Amino acid sequence: MFKKVLIANRGEIALRIICACKELDVRTVVIYSEADRNSLPVRFADEAICIGPPQLALSYLNIPAVISAAEIANVDAVHPGYGLLAENANFAEVCETSGIKFIGPPPEITRLMGEKEKARAAMKRAGVPILPGSEGILASDGEAIEWARQVGYPVIVKASAGGGGRGMRIVRSEEELPALFTQAQAEAAGAFGNGDLYMEKYVERPRHIEFQILADQHGKVVSLGERECSIQRRHQKLLEESPSTQVTPELRDQIGAILCKALTDIGYMNAGTIEFLIDQDRRLHFIEMNTRIQVEHPVTEMVTDVDLVKSQIMIAAGSPMDEVLHGPIVHRGHAIECRINAEHPEKFTPSAGKITAFHPPGGTGVRVDTAAYAEGIIPPYYDSLIAKLIVRGKDRDEAVSRMARALEMFIVEGIYTTIPLHRRILADPDFRAGKIDTGFIERFLAAGKEKSA
Ligand code: ADP
Repeated sequence: MFKKVLIANRGEIALRIICACKELDVRTVVIYSEADRNSLPVRFADEAICIGPPQLALSYLNIPAVISAAEIANVDAVHPGYGLLAENANFAEVCETSGIKFIGPPPEITRLMGEKEKARAAMKRAGVPILPGSEGILASDGEAIEWARQVGYPVIVKASAGGGGRGMRIVRSEEELPALFTQAQAEAAGAFGNGDLYMEKYVERPRHIEFQILADQHGKVVSLGERECSIQRRHQKLLEESPSTQVTPELRDQIGAILCKALTDIGYMNAGTIEFLIDQDRRLHFIEMNTRIQVEHPVTEMVTDVDLVKSQIMIAAGSPMDEVLHGPIVHRGHAIECRINAEHPEKFTPSAGKITAFHPPGGTGVRVDTAAYAEGIIPPYYDSLIAKLIVRGKDRDEAVSRMARALEMFIVEGIYTTIPLHRRILADPDFRAGKIDTGFIERFLAAGKEKSA
């Protein structure tokens, strides 16, 4: 096992990694920016190194500064968390050449999955179902029109370097294709420095389902089942649950088996998530793979009792799967996660500042992952996620009631949060009946259901 791990992240996920390391008896070093000097990760890590001013490019994304900190602290490994440098293959490469283990897959796999159109082709070759679409990058809008004729409208053009829902356009007819193609290309070039686009069939009212896998360094891959993440605003997840009401035990086993074989063929290692859209006929279609721990990993932890972050660290240290997991994966009950963002609940604008009162809920089956505290400051420079509220119940009904009461008992004052929005989602009859798809929030907002009465 490693002696010392550097945590190249901040906020709740940095604290989550510190928890895992403490339980494994591994020392921790956290890096922080000047804006995070008084943060809980800095307080709870064994060592903390300030690596620069608040701006991301000068601190958390500054690879030479992060590597210097790792070298000064003399760590054996780096855990990147999610976001920031987690899917930066160059960073993973620099870690390895500096003799520091990167807790994640090898850089070439991160690179392959980061080019979404190549990932699609690799998954297709490995036997994973994908949506009909273009082969390779679209050279021009003319080529896009040719593919769209073959695939059939509606189609969606997507950025190969995509993330966070940017560089994506739904196209419903040939007339509107050239303009939407140009818009998507410009948006992708602006956001990712790469305007490459590809095309897929657009699925109407799909649900977003993703599978969690773990792969050790000895060729063993296991599936931990699915999470449903259809409650999204502008393609960003807000609420996740496991299991999905759409996935039967047979379908879970069938997809799990396909993925274990595919990821063994690809040579995958560590934790990973394979995202799918499920259509109205309950067919799953691969859309992308994330090569890191996900924000929503706790829902899987709650229903499987597997600590995914500890598993990541053990796998990276060379432990075989039967040491990482104690027996077969068993799913128990139902878990839901609400993302509590520092945002105005109706306008969705960021809300930084000082938290004046903070009281997280507790009780049976309730978990709160957060680095926020009373009198703490939410800096304006970073992601707006300040807490994740996760509950587990014996079934979906119990989990929904538990989440509703936990939201009611969650006090955050001084800043706006998405707690009131979640309370209204939890009370919605369609949500309660499990009638959800990726268009749920859009319809919910169009009906004005987010507003206080
Ligand atoms: P990103 O990496 O930008 O998050 P994804 O490929 O993961 O992009 O897609 C994000 C979301 O966009 C999906 O969860 C879904 O809501 C929507 N989406 C993506 N591809 C399609 C498609 N082919 N049909 C319908 N919706 C899609």
